[in-house]
Amino acid sequence: MDILFKNAAILTMCDDAPVLENGFVGVEGGFIRSVGRAEPEGAAARTIDCRGDILMPGLVNAHAHTAMCLMRGYADDYTLREWLFERVFPVEAGLGAAEIRAGAKLGFAEMIASGTTSVSDMYFHQPEVAALAAQIGMRASLCNGVVALDGRLDPNGRCFGELAALVRDFHGGGDGLVRADASIHAEYTSCPEAWEKETELALEHGLVLHLHLSETSAEHDGCIAKYGLTPARLFEKHGVFRAKTLAAHCVWLSGEDMDILAQNGVSAAHCPVSNLKLGSGIARVSEMLRRGVNVALGTDGCCSNNSHDLFEEIKLAALLAKGTGGDPTRLPAYEALRLATVGGAKAQGREGQIGRVKEGYQADLILLKTDSPSMCPVYSPASAAAYAAKGSDVRLTMVRGKILYENGEFTTIDIEKAVADARETARRILREHTG
Ligand SMILES: [Zn+2]
Repeated sequence: MDILFKNAAILTMCDDAPVLENGFVGVEGGFIRSVGRAEPEGAAARTIDCRGDILMPGLVNAHAHTAMCLMRGYADDYTLREWLFERVFPVEAGLGAAEIRAGAKLGFAEMIASGTTSVSDMYFHQPEVAALAAQIGMRASLCNGVVALDGRLDPNGRCFGELAALVRDFHGGGDGLVRADASIHAEYTSCPEAWEKETELALEHGLVLHLHLSETSAEHDGCIAKYGLTPARLFEKHGVFRAKTLAAHCVWLSGEDMDILAQNGVSAAHCPVSNLKLGSGIARVSEMLRRGVNVALGTDGCCSNNSHDLFEEIKLAALLAKGTGGDPTRLPAYEALRLATVGGAKAQGREGQIGRVKEGYQADLILLKTDSPSMCPVYSPASAAAYAAKGSDVRLTMVRGKILYENGEFTTIDIEKAVADARETARRILREHTG
């Protein structure tokens, strides 16, 4: 056995036994080998005394643009249109591989330190980001969303080259640590030919297809005006949902749209902070769940959030469901945590592999310290994790059996250099884009 956790309050996220007090978890070869109240047999190379702290599955961030953390705080409080077209796009046009790498490294560090162990990331220069994720040991599903703003698809566009490189060099390697996803940026930024081509690539290589769906009312209504169909109905008509689809936002879905998602096994990535910050609205998560849609959680990009702390999203998702429904029993703590663990794993096509503390699952685990004033006392680990915890309460983060972060120290990232590189890139952005 490589590592044995003892004296842990284990939040398993297994519905038949969600909590195991005073439990043991044995990790070997990157996998969870044992979970239980009895100490497993066999010596462990290292034993970690959790002292009653909460051991739970690492969180899954199902929708991010990780390197956008370079623009954290760069463009706050603008309308979505001004934010995207006048502020974000001009900066992104000037970002090369080195800058994206600096941003992704900062973002991965932030995620790891706040308990996220797996991310679905849509951005560009993704082969470089894939190499970085593999080097750091971060679990990542990466894509470059196809864009065809003028309605004409460039078959030699960069997104196709990056997808081919990801599939060739990373997909399926290293126990699936880094994967390629196919991707359509969104209905309003592309065209039917692009949707069909990405879908065929997803089906050919067995990839998840990651897209933005009905984020704003303008986008949703614009699609109905242009095509006579909602974006969900339109994508279904073009066969997109034949691929295992991960749809970010889903704020403006109709009830019928939700049924389409449920019937086609499409997962929704709920991004409550970003949707509120950009004034886009509030996704009806309780209704999606009731209609059978798998719901995950995402931070979206750090330029519209401005954080990668998924604990914020967990709490906010629960509060919004309660507040908008006028019903405090909606989306209870455990259900909110499900979105960020089991739901996220399913959305990434990693169900049965991550998202639970369970024998045979990959050892993606986090430990929440409970001896701080803000986390004490703990009556229920689910309540503590959903409503009291912040990313800064994470004491240890492990991906595939490897400890990436412990007691404030990173094991695979030179954090001082990562912060210095990100600051230097931000200084350049400021010089070039604000005159
Ligand atoms: Zn997004």
